[in-house]
Amino acid sequence: MSTPALATRHRLAEVRYEIRGELARRARELETQGHTLVKLNIGNPGAFGFRAPAHLQRAIADHIHDTDPYTHQQGLPEAREAIALFHRQRGTPDADADASRIFIGNGVSELIDIALRALLNPGDEVLLPSPDYPLWSAATILNDGRPVYYPCRPENDFLPDPAEIEKLISSRTRALVLINPNNPTGASYPRELLERIVAIARKYRLLLMADEIYDHILYDDARFEPLAPLAGDLPCLSFGGLSKVHRACGWRVGWAVLSGEAAQVTPYQHALDLLSALRLCANVPGQFAIHAALHGGDTISALTAPGGRLHETRRALIECCQASPHLQLSTPAAALYGFPRVVGKAAENFDDHRFALDLLEQEGVLIVPGSSFNVPYRDHFRVTLLPEAEVLREVFARIDRVLAGYC
Ligand code: PLP
Repeated sequence: MSTPALATRHRLAEVRYEIRGELARRARELETQGHTLVKLNIGNPGAFGFRAPAHLQRAIADHIHDTDPYTHQQGLPEAREAIALFHRQRGTPDADADASRIFIGNGVSELIDIALRALLNPGDEVLLPSPDYPLWSAATILNDGRPVYYPCRPENDFLPDPAEIEKLISSRTRALVLINPNNPTGASYPRELLERIVAIARKYRLLLMADEIYDHILYDDARFEPLAPLAGDLPCLSFGGLSKVHRACGWRVGWAVLSGEAAQVTPYQHALDLLSALRLCANVPGQFAIHAALHGGDTISALTAPGGRLHETRRALIECCQASPHLQLSTPAAALYGFPRVVGKAAENFDDHRFALDLLEQEGVLIVPGSSFNVPYRDHFRVTLLPEAEVLREVFARIDRVLAGYC
């Protein structure tokens, strides 16, 4: 008789992370068999030839001899001071010079998990956007919480409706998560919308969590409005990092900044500190790049301005979707993704997973089906804007071929 397999945590059955899931595994198999693929599933700038700015690399190299010991659990003091200054400059209240409310982690990913673990008791609810970045759902579930999704509808340019958010609040709701600028939709939230959401958080005493990792990746006349200055004395945790704006995903550097009235946030601050201490500290080398990243000059605008690589790839996305009889696009104002919808005849009986698999098998292109982002519809998919424009144009020619085959 065979020995039974090891049982795993039951709630993992509720967790999905398709960005690196079954389709990506099939892609690896195809590559092993010698196929060349275009993989647009991960927003990983370094995999597309982008490099972290040289002055950030130099800051690490210059300090490599100082990186052997553990740091303070919340991160290197000088790096936290650099984050505090950056936040003070954008108007975050209480981004104090002693940086006691700043937590550096192994990417925003680790901090999302810590932030929810420090907050949730079994059955507590977290308001998440739909579509979401699926780590938010996974971390809510694995910390015994319950995701409650507020829709960001395609017909409303993927902006949420505060009235709908308010209707979803129950006595168990603890936090309201915003991903702005948004992955996967590229939406950038206007100030008056954020103000209405802050008013809801104030009315129901919710912790605001603002995932702002794409804060400076903006196109055309898009603006970024940080949430913490609008939240004022309300508890708010703002996330940022080096992975996207600074193209250094592999360094695993992210930060979370807690703002709000001391009497309200101090116990939560202590809980974050305890959980940070239990994992000792974040990777040290990358922390030495934080000051250079935040105060050493803008390196992203040249990529997002007309003529810049991200701008041109986004233009290719817009033009390809306009030219396609099968696609409709809500133009991304920000971030690194397009989230087109399949329309017309190709959309009849359309299934985003089957489409992703067909595109992979028939055309050697890996994308992420829209339903991976916790939406109730199955007619969207996500691509990153990281390849060269010409590569994206070729990808859309292949996408159109597969969609034409469905008609
Ligand atoms: N939040 C959002 C919205 C993301 O898109 C990502 C990565 O794609 C992360 C967080 C995780 O970033 P990090 O590399 O800092 O862990």
